[in-house]
Amino acid sequence: GPILAIESSCDETACAVLDRSGAILSERVLSQQEHLPFGGVVPEIAARAHLAHLPVLAATALADAGVAAGDLGAVAASTGPGLIGGLIVGSHFAKGLALSLGVPFVAVNHLEAHALTARLPGLVPDGAPFPYLLLLVSGGHCQCVAVDGLGRYRRLGGTIDDAAGEAFDKVAKMLGLGWPGGPALERLARDGDPAVHPLPRPLLGRPGCDFSFSGLKTAVAQRIAALPRDAEGVIRRQDAADLAAAFQRSVSLVLADRVAHALAMMPDATLLVVAGGVAANAEIRANLLGLATERGIGFAAPPLRLCTDNAVMVGWAALERLRAGLAGRNGLDTPPRPRWPLDELAA
Ligand code: ATP
Ligand code: MG
Ligand code: FE
Repeated sequence: GPILAIESSCDETACAVLDRSGAILSERVLSQQEHLPFGGVVPEIAARAHLAHLPVLAATALADAGVAAGDLGAVAASTGPGLIGGLIVGSHFAKGLALSLGVPFVAVNHLEAHALTARLPGLVPDGAPFPYLLLLVSGGHCQCVAVDGLGRYRRLGGTIDDAAGEAFDKVAKMLGLGWPGGPALERLARDGDPAVHPLPRPLLGRPGCDFSFSGLKTAVAQRIAALPRDAEGVIRRQDAADLAAAFQRSVSLVLADRVAHALAMMPDATLLVVAGGVAANAEIRANLLGLATERGIGFAAPPLRLCTDNAVMVGWAALERLRAGLAGRNGLDTPPRPRWPLDELAA
């Protein structure tokens, strides 16, 4: 029977139903609005919101798919890494359901789910064969991963301070754009000129493929502090737009440069895959596509709804593991893991 998948590691409550071939029968994502007044995700509020929304969302996803709970062949959930409260809610809900139905529970690593999304049937013409290079750029993660095979991942480099999405969110906040800031910052940057307030490009050209964004963030704060203000103490919209454009330019150039170094560390890669919410950014996508084209390798960026946190990717990763006999003997025994690096993932 089909699989029900659940994602609850951060602030997206998500459910999806996939058939055994990986075809998406239904998908639902609820981005929690409960955090808006706080300008960032509050872990305890996130856990309570998952608890409030998950039962209804799961029932809705099953109804959308036209699948009765009793017809399910497996239930999967992200069990880490992420915020412990949300992981407990999602994985216990899924385990309880699996146990009551007498079907397997599959514990999925959230990062592996992002890593395997490109292999969903129909996304990439040849199905994203291994090995490929993954750039994972979200609010909580920023890393280059060699995806050598199912369960075989090597972290080639990652951020030494902030994740790229975190930097987008913090800079957007400084510019008064609210939260989450990435999409608002990208919109504002369209009206800006990146050359007016040039910003540093941290680690550009350096060996390896680590990232650093905290210095860039500080540079933006210093620029803002030096800008003229109106009677209300607000900076001019044009200055904000120019800064947004300069920030986006720095991040996109740095990301492409770091990925170029990662490709040099992974000569057998014939494909570059980008995942995570920051992959929604058009300038970033364009720069990465340009790099892949220049290197003569493929480029795959899943559609935006599959780049940000979702349950389809969780279901797909579970199916890949089930198919390969790598789903674990007894998923019910797997505890939620707030920290669960990809390279600790046994195949
Ligand atoms: P995790 O890191 O665990 O995957 P998350 O919720 O932080 O969780 P996502 O849902 O994948 O990650 O992505 C959200 C991030 O993506 C936010 O930091 C947001 O600002 C950023 N983002 C979304 N759209 C854009 C955009 N157009 N440009 C830049 N950043 C964006
Ligand atoms: Mg999110
Ligand atoms: Fe994520």
